Amino acid sequence: MRTIEKRSVAVVLMALALMISFSAASAQAQSKLKIVTTTTDLASLAQAVGGDRVEVNAIARGYQDPHFVEAKPSFLLLLRRADLVILVGLQLEIGWLPPLITQSGNPRIQTGAAGYLDASQYAQILEVPTEVVTRAMGDVHPFGNPHYWLDSGNGRRVAQGIAQKLSTMRPADAAYFQQRLQAFNDKLTQEERNWNAMMQPYRGRKVVTYHRSWPNFTRRFGLQVMGEVEPRPGIPPGPRHTIELMQMMKREGVKVILVEPYFDLKTPNSIASGTGAKVVVLLPSVGGEKEAPDYFKLFDYDLGALSRAFQGQ
Ligand SMILES: [Zn+2]
Repeated sequence: MRTIEKRSVAVVLMALALMISFSAASAQAQSKLKIVTTTTDLASLAQAVGGDRVEVNAIARGYQDPHFVEAKPSFLLLLRRADLVILVGLQLEIGWLPPLITQSGNPRIQTGAAGYLDASQYAQILEVPTEVVTRAMGDVHPFGNPHYWLDSGNGRRVAQGIAQKLSTMRPADAAYFQQRLQAFNDKLTQEERNWNAMMQPYRGRKVVTYHRSWPNFTRRFGLQVMGEVEPRPGIPPGPRHTIELMQMMKREGVKVILVEPYFDLKTPNSIASGTGAKVVVLLPSVGGEKEAPDYFKLFDYDLGALSRAFQGQ
């Protein structure tokens, strides 16, 4: 080998060695923050903001009722290695999350620790009870309605809160999170224009919903909720309430019943056939159907289904 070639080989080797040590250092700096969210909606927001600096797993599936999630050993494994837990709060997960967090034995994510983030603190909350909540009222959430993510304005607020939290945990990546948050906000603003235009012809329409999952959603898009299929939150429908509901629907001209995918369609279908209304299965969460894989597509899906139901009525 001639000297000049030897020299260039040496240069290449040195460059390679440097590249390897650099990438080892950056791999170390970039070990991903492990985030566990209770719902797919929060997972979608956390992923939007966290990008490739985070690894996000949701506990509840999008087609499951988030009030009732059956604990699995795999959830404990996720929680054990989590740096950050993000929950909806307002007691939505009270039936299943606290014991899982305790059992995980992970000090980083215990209530009040730096890795415990209750997203409801960032959201505008509706239906905060003004009276003392008793069992007789059903499963009323005593701190207000926890289904707040179905207002995209709250999605924006929660995304900002998550960006703040991630920046505190990883100051070196703060600019990256801020940039991702900005991109998310820009897209959301644009989508909100489309969604508002889509719903404009139907503003003021009256609907009945199965559970009280939709006050934030209906307020955002200008619909009126006239009643629920459940006589009280979390209490299955009964004949007396159903008859009263049907009378009200006929009187008020309610033609659409919104039902979450995890409720039995029997009562909604019989109400529909007795009143000439349509049953529309709306998704409260990302991943409820494969056509709704993220926070933006969730609204596309629901508003698409709603506008099809309202058309021609
Ligand atoms: Zn609820």
